Amino acid sequence: MDKIWTEMLNAAKSVQAPRQVSDYVSAGEVSAAIESASGRIYTGVCVDTCSTLGICAERNAIFNMLTNGENEIRRVLAIMPDGRSGAPCGACRELMVQLMPKTYKTVEIMLDYEQNKVTTLGDITPEWWI
Ligand SMILES: [Zn+2]
Repeated sequence: MDKIWTEMLNAAKSVQAPRQVSDYVSAGEVSAAIESASGRIYTGVCVDTCSTLGICAERNAIFNMLTNGENEIRRVLAIMPDGRSGAPCGACRELMVQLMPKTYKTVEIMLDYEQNKVTTLGDITPEWWI
């Protein structure tokens, strides 16, 4: 396995800290790390609210990348509440496709870190709706 995946796993683990922020907001149950085109790793955690104001960990990490001036994703890894890695949801896939409409199919997604099972965004999002 490419060592970048281990770096991404460790980065995502370092921010995964489930907590109740208020009566209405919890955060940190899912965490994510993305590698940008420059090779930098950006992290994010999910934010859950009582009225759909929250965000997935993957999109939070992508917004972190955008905040820091980068636009291109190379790899994505998310850690679910049970500690296992997993695939991004439809909304996160859609954002990645819209960010990189010509090249999104090459984005690598860690499906199962323990089994070293990697796929691409193109494989799990084969036909874009636009
Ligand atoms: Zn999502």
